[in-house]
Amino acid sequence: MLEVDRIVMAFGGFRAVDGCTLRADKGAITGLIGPNGAGKTTLFNVIAGALRPTSGHVRFEGADVTGLSADALFHRGLVRTFQIPHEFHRLSARENLMMVAPSQSGESLFANWLRWGGVRAEEERVRARAEDVLDFLNLRHVADQRAGQLSGGQKKLLELGRAMMTDARMVLLDEPAAGVNRTLLREIEEKILWLNRERGYSFVLIEHDMEMIERLCDPVICMAEGKVLTEGAFADVRNDPRVLEAYLGERAA
Ligand code: ADP
Ligand code: MG
Repeated sequence: MLEVDRIVMAFGGFRAVDGCTLRADKGAITGLIGPNGAGKTTLFNVIAGALRPTSGHVRFEGADVTGLSADALFHRGLVRTFQIPHEFHRLSARENLMMVAPSQSGESLFANWLRWGGVRAEEERVRARAEDVLDFLNLRHVADQRAGQLSGGQKKLLELGRAMMTDARMVLLDEPAAGVNRTLLREIEEKILWLNRERGYSFVLIEHDMEMIERLCDPVICMAEGKVLTEGAFADVRNDPRVLEAYLGERAA
């Protein structure tokens, strides 16, 4: 579904991503691990259209999408969750969901304008969807609270919710467990699993919490120094001496 082909992302003379090749299959929750500075986030930025790579290609569902804008990718169903923008902190949780660009109904917004009542209907659809998402994520009780006042875990759920407002087919998650308490973390895991199994979302998940990776991800890809070090089932990757060495190197540094 997603193919990363020899991506290089250089900043000046430094290659944060250095010839990275990997794929993520439809229906999978692919784990992406590796020590700090391995280039995982930079790779996500390249895939999601925030950075144009120095060289290499990204293909999504068979099409070359290298260098397309985040917005264009979003409309193709490839979505990266982002921290809620600062200026959205004043908006309520519900408003944050409704602010997400109109979902892809297969019709252009222009077509809707031409149809009598079309815009109204679209607005109603967005509202109904936001209500569904609030229920699904157990955020109804904070729907009218400002996003800035939500707990760390609730903010993560809201970020996931913003991806759910679109007809995403693949979602890139960068460290969803960071700063989230255990209880809410299990809830986030359950939601990811449900979206994967019942709604057919595919995920690529960057995470330092190895328990979360073990519970959710197959396969697991380990990056180090901008490249893929190894890939396979969690148990095999964890026991790979090169992976151990990469993490020990990080600790030593
Ligand atoms: P990870 O997410 O695996 O921890 P990152 O992708 O954030 O790693 O970073 C990989 C390396 O690239 C790091 O050494 C980081 O300092 C560097 N880096 C990331 N973004 C930039 C940038 N915009 N300019 C220069 N160096 C960067
Ligand atoms: Mg990172």
